[in-house]
Amino acid sequence: MANAEKSREYDLIVIGAGPGGATLASLAANEGKKVLVVDKNPAAGGRMMTVHRDGHSYEMFPLNLVPYAPSLFEELQERVGKTVRNVTVGVEDAVNPIYIAPDGKVTLIDVKSLSVLKSLGLRNPVTLIRTALWFRRVMTMKEEEILKLGGVSAYDYMQRQKFPDILKVFITAAMGEGAFEMSSDLVPASSMIRMIQLAMDPKRTQQRYYEGGIGGFFSRMLERVPENGGDLLYSTRVSKVIVENGRAAGVVTAAGDEYRAPVVASSAGIRQTVRFLVGEEHFPTEYAERVSNLRSNLCDVGYRYFTTRKILPCSTYVLFPYDCLEPWSAFEEMAAGRRKPKGNYIYLGTKSIFPTIGPEDGRQVIYAVMSCVPDMNQDFSPYLEYIERRVAKVFPELYEEGAIERKEVMSLQACAALGVDPVSEGRGGESYGIAACIGQADAQTPKTETPVPGLYIVGNDAEGFGLGTHRAVDSGFKVFEKIRDRL
Ligand SMILES: Cc1cc2nc3c(=O)[nH]c(=O)nc-3n(C[C@H](O)[C@H](O)[C@H](O)COP(=O)(O)OP(=O)(O)OC[C@H]3O[C@@H](n4cnc5c(N)ncnc54)[C@H](O)[C@@H]3O)c2cc1C
Repeated sequence: MANAEKSREYDLIVIGAGPGGATLASLAANEGKKVLVVDKNPAAGGRMMTVHRDGHSYEMFPLNLVPYAPSLFEELQERVGKTVRNVTVGVEDAVNPIYIAPDGKVTLIDVKSLSVLKSLGLRNPVTLIRTALWFRRVMTMKEEEILKLGGVSAYDYMQRQKFPDILKVFITAAMGEGAFEMSSDLVPASSMIRMIQLAMDPKRTQQRYYEGGIGGFFSRMLERVPENGGDLLYSTRVSKVIVENGRAAGVVTAAGDEYRAPVVASSAGIRQTVRFLVGEEHFPTEYAERVSNLRSNLCDVGYRYFTTRKILPCSTYVLFPYDCLEPWSAFEEMAAGRRKPKGNYIYLGTKSIFPTIGPEDGRQVIYAVMSCVPDMNQDFSPYLEYIERRVAKVFPELYEEGAIERKEVMSLQACAALGVDPVSEGRGGESYGIAACIGQADAQTPKTETPVPGLYIVGNDAEGFGLGTHRAVDSGFKVFEKIRDRL
């Protein structure tokens, strides 16, 4: 039952202070709107909440801040009038792909120059010219042409190209699978091309990571909310969205407190919002069914190592074996225990090398993860064994006596605890949420508007484009533009 004493009125209620919700809330507050943000976590950042411990500031999960600055993060700072220092160390710290050849040979690829091609063993001038022309064509492809590739998978599209297999694997793994955390047989080629255009945009040259981490970044943006009369309600779970006369009218928390607003935006996941917070009975059957059938993207599983000394000289590495491209069915077979990981790519990185982020004595928090399907009940030990085996070959220093102070398993459960709830018993922990896959991308991306007037979806699951956080922030901007006149 509603607690009348605590009943409060706002212009906008945002469920979730992750990248999507925080973007929308800070933009609306910046225009003088009275906003309430309710999040079950103790701080902002969502799945990217920053933890401060033992001199370290770190996110629960690895970070690959594509695109480089100026990105939507910089645009948000400017719009909201709050600045957060970029603490990256400069161009010498790039994304470092590490190729593992069929004979086991390990090659660090220098992506900063044409030597990337040489280090992939591509010295033939015809191949080099063909590759350069392909990139130029992709970088200048117009929207109309890109949209025609919406029904073709990134994998199939790359297989058709006339350059060596290794290059196809590299591009597909980085831009067709890794960037979307989705198997490349399901990512549309249109999305991969857009991602290449975004990631390689020559106007975006500055590496970025923020003082206070990603959670710190969004906490800073959200300062606008109380400054303009709104409230930030942390450690508070929303259990229900109030629908009155067919319209969204507010929320009820798990403690039974009621808050009212004519506009409610949820970043609790489109499926979870429709099914659990609002109730499918409030939506047309066709809409509820479509939402319920939306596909999840992949999850990450692996280790977080706390080291006693400096191990990684750079922030970001991707280990990609020659046979790393796996279809969705292969991930399902792994989850069912019918096969073990053998060639999957591994993301390895640390942000501890950045000033103000790691302890000054050089200790690091290092992530090493691979992808899996969002089945929380599967046996994770084969993934963990695979990761340790591969990482030990590339960075044996990590496994030298005394280098690791402690290590933690990065689990799907931890991801769901910080982000959105599992969609059903044991199904959850996705890195992003619903997938950017064929049938859910381009014009078929779920819309922010819902059939319930006044109810909007924000964050990963609605209308944004980009890699992870960037996609959620993009969605925040888009929802803001749509509701701005209504507020
Ligand atoms: C392992 C891993 C690796 C990743 N790597 C990268 C990367 O390299 N680069 C990158 O850009 N992104 C990465 N991401 C993705 C990034 O974290 C997400 O894309 C982003 O956090 C999505 O933002 P969001 O606002 O949509 O959702 P979330 O971040 O999940 O935020 C949703 C918020 O809603 C709150 N909430 C949910 N339900 C309720 C409720 N009922 N009541 C109150 N509050 C609720 C949650 O507590 C949470 O704070 C990674 C994620 C993971 C898990």
